[in-house]
Amino acid sequence: MSDFFVKFWGTVGGMAGGNFDRPVGRVCYDTPCVEVFFNGTSYLLDAGSGFTRFCSAGKPKNPVGGVFFSHYHLDHICGLWLLGDGLWDKSFGRMRLVGPRIAGQTVDDVLHALMREPISPGPITWAKVKEELSPDITVVMHTGSVWYDGVCTATFVPVVHGAGESYSIRLSFKGGPTVVYATDVDFGASKEKLVELCQGADFLIADCEYTNREYYNRTSPRPHSGPEVVVQVAEAAGVKHLTLFHHPYRTDSEDRKMMERLSEAARFARTFDFRVDLARDKGILVL
Ligand SMILES: [Zn+2]
Ligand SMILES: [Zn+2]
Repeated sequence: MSDFFVKFWGTVGGMAGGNFDRPVGRVCYDTPCVEVFFNGTSYLLDAGSGFTRFCSAGKPKNPVGGVFFSHYHLDHICGLWLLGDGLWDKSFGRMRLVGPRIAGQTVDDVLHALMREPISPGPITWAKVKEELSPDITVVMHTGSVWYDGVCTATFVPVVHGAGESYSIRLSFKGGPTVVYATDVDFGASKEKLVELCQGADFLIADCEYTNREYYNRTSPRPHSGPEVVVQVAEAAGVKHLTLFHHPYRTDSEDRKMMERLSEAARFARTFDFRVDLARDKGILVL
């Protein structure tokens, strides 16, 4: 296996599940969790239901350098719900959680709420899991906050996500590539910040929940993005590889719209010098 890859463990927004128009069990999708692997260590972006797939995948298990959070909407954290069931494998090493404070809440606060009544059955609470795992929790400060472990630099920037905010995250590796994860964001409303964050990135994983028509039919600030604004940022920043992410992928008509998004993005990107594709669950990107 290469020294670097990106693997998608969950790519849909909202609810995990099968495609409602197809027979049960045929197609199943998870909510956001992206693994960025570099030189023997995995770094995770968000912990939606794809996080449980990552944790329960077969051996060998690599150490996990950090789990980074864009924000705490349920589709991005629901995989943490099972931490009390021993989901965190010893071979992952010490748990490092890195996330912003949003609406006054940190990842620690969110986990306390998620892992107790009335949301979770007792008696295992986040306080108990913390005693066992001694997680290292870093709260990202507001603008341009940086986290560094000697190999990976994570830069967080707050962006517009409907009436609220999320954080877009740039991971750069010493002697390696750069990946920007920008999900749950209106690329149009956060354009300047995103162009700066994405400068020269090898990979941009970009929220593209809407078709172009859906995007422009919504009033600003929008929760999500469409193909044209995403391509504009990728082009202005000199990104090498754009991957569309956070699909509303639950029916055949949405499936068709997903292909429509890709062809729209490819059309806008035609004159530029970068690749465009769709994130798929268990899909892998390499340099
Ligand atoms: Zn989401
Ligand atoms: Zn969200």
